[in-house]
Amino acid sequence: MQLLDGKKVREERTPVLVERLKALSFVPGFVIIQIGNREDSTAFIAAKKAFAKKLGVKEIHIQLEEKVTGKEIISVIQKYNGDKEVQGIILQLPLPIHIDSDEVIDAILPSKDIDGLTSYNVKRWMNGHENAFMPATTRGIKELLEHYSIDLFGKKVTIVGRSSLVGKPTALMCLNQNATVTICHSKTVGLENETKKADVLIVAIGKPSFIGKTFVSKGQVVIDVGITRLSNGKLSGDVNFEEAKSIVGSLTPVPGGVGQMTVLALFENLVDACYNGKN
Ligand code: NAP
Repeated sequence: MQLLDGKKVREERTPVLVERLKALSFVPGFVIIQIGNREDSTAFIAAKKAFAKKLGVKEIHIQLEEKVTGKEIISVIQKYNGDKEVQGIILQLPLPIHIDSDEVIDAILPSKDIDGLTSYNVKRWMNGHENAFMPATTRGIKELLEHYSIDLFGKKVTIVGRSSLVGKPTALMCLNQNATVTICHSKTVGLENETKKADVLIVAIGKPSFIGKTFVSKGQVVIDVGITRLSNGKLSGDVNFEEAKSIVGSLTPVPGGVGQMTVLALFENLVDACYNGKN
């Protein structure tokens, strides 16, 4: 089994990013807006901050109370939309349920939307515009596959999970790479048949070790996007690594797989934003 090692790929690609940063005439900055104090969000933010520090990028972390209104979040976003020192705005998801996520996300200036989640950017890259931001996890998966020369052209790809953050944009990316894509979700009937028939299986459901040996088939490429912290403090993916590893052809570990690539892709989007004032 080939390990698709996101940590190693990120380490290899980081010097390229550093060179591109050095060639800029300014030090880029970005802001992360966090609502409430979800433990998983705090951990994801810590990973982004650590990589920003390594790259020498300026970072501002804004923490707003759980009960904040959408209007208040939008006014914070607008402040940074107009801040010339800030080239990227990240709104850490998920937001509390009383907030209209779409409305708040769409307040981000598209040229600073390095997570690629505004309607403007989604539509742009959905329609194949090269210079629109691709959501970071999707870009990370794309680059990981490219690194290992896994070509999606003509392949059967099954994606489990249909969130706007991961499942849907990743499905679209695979479609744009000329894969034949099946999208599964919690109401899918016969999930095992759908996952087993895939050449490439991508799982993003947030259910630790859900995809066991009966869901995978010989030689498959399996990309595990899930990250859940277990009660013992360890991180788990959605794929049962121990069961899958003796069957599939290639597999991402958790941690050390897609998560590493997501953070890299986010900063690649930031550097892109600095270079060409996207959109
Ligand atoms: P989400 O918004 O909760 O969506 C989960 C999706 O999984 C939904 O579409 C849901 O179906 C589907 N699902 C849930 N249980 C299922 C089941 N038993 N069978 C089939 N489908 C099922 O989650 P998300 O934001 O996409 O995140 C998913 C996971 O990826 C989480 O563990 C998250 O932490 C992780 N994540 C990792 C990265 C990274 O960089 N590695 C980035 C983002 C997220 P319905 O639509 O029918 O409800």
